[in-house]
Amino acid sequence: MKYDVLIVGGGPAGLSAALLLGRCRRTALLCDEGQQRNLRSPAIHGLLGREGRSPAAFLGEARQELTRYNSVSVRGTRVTDIVSVGSSFEFSCSDGTTGNASKILLATGLVDELPELAGIEPLYGISIHHCLYCDGFEYAGKPVAALGKGDKGAELALMMKHWIQDIVVCSDGSEISAKAMRKLDKHNILVRPEPIQRLEGTNGELTKIIFKSGPDLPRVGLFFSTGCHQASDLSKRLGCQRDAKGGVVMDTDTEETSVPGVYVAGDVSRDVLLVAAAIAEGAQAAVAINKVFLRRDGFCD
Ligand SMILES: Cc1cc2nc3c(=O)[nH]c(=O)nc-3n(C[C@H](O)[C@H](O)[C@H](O)COP(=O)(O)OP(=O)(O)OC[C@H]3O[C@@H](n4cnc5c(N)ncnc54)[C@H](O)[C@@H]3O)c2cc1C
Repeated sequence: MKYDVLIVGGGPAGLSAALLLGRCRRTALLCDEGQQRNLRSPAIHGLLGREGRSPAAFLGEARQELTRYNSVSVRGTRVTDIVSVGSSFEFSCSDGTTGNASKILLATGLVDELPELAGIEPLYGISIHHCLYCDGFEYAGKPVAALGKGDKGAELALMMKHWIQDIVVCSDGSEISAKAMRKLDKHNILVRPEPIQRLEGTNGELTKIIFKSGPDLPRVGLFFSTGCHQASDLSKRLGCQRDAKGGVVMDTDTEETSVPGVYVAGDVSRDVLLVAAAIAEGAQAAVAINKVFLRRDGFCD
């Protein structure tokens, strides 16, 4: 099959682009493996008009809205290969789907690297977080931990202080520099440097941090700073330039990458990592792509 656009990834960015492209009467195939980054969280925060909606419900509604647009198809599959052939692209998917698209939109997102701590899995996304913009507001007045090796946990704790008053830094057996210690001291932030044995909680709610030595630390939330990486290497294989953080470099007006015809939207650029930003970037890319087609067909300059 031949499409105007192949959209890789069906998170907020890809779905938003698909909606706009459908409304522009463009043919688009959206392929999604279904590993949206925030699926572990019970609620989306900071999204105007959808505050507190569960990510799964939000994605379900968005997919439902797309069914109105006959020119847009959605497949639950992984895009495994994309190659540039002349002025278009040929692609293949893990379910055997193959095709050709004039433009590619990579909305493939990121994967978070979780700290290696016993007990973290059932708590992650509910009481263990990485994003203050997403979850910091709910913890004002509650006892929270900032986890990070070396100065990373200290830097995170200092930033958290704006949102949360009762913070303890857990450096999990790693050393914090004297400079960072002075800053923590200035802001009355305590440190627990001992290696962590495990996290304990019930129904996803953290109750305490248990160390290899010393008393347990009762906490109801924990923020960490470890990192994340691209969920897909398609941008790399297509030759798209990346920045020092590993984000795909793009033109901020059009979302086009250094490879003509390949666009990105959402977390892939590692800019503002929020649902609202992903939706906006998906829409922006769709409009830019549509303008290219309008110019190609002589409908605008
Ligand atoms: C625990 C957690 C909680 C969060 N809470 C909030 C919040 O409260 N508010 C907020 O604004 N933001 C929140 N975020 C951030 C938010 O999840 C992201 O900013 C948003 O999901 C980015 O959307 P996206 O479309 O770029 O990527 P994603 O939503 O990650 O979607 C990318 C999709 O592409 C698919 N994919 C990747 N490679 C391929 C391939 N080769 N073929 C097919 N499909 C592929 C993936 O499987 C995935 O389904 C949270 C993140 C996490 C981790």
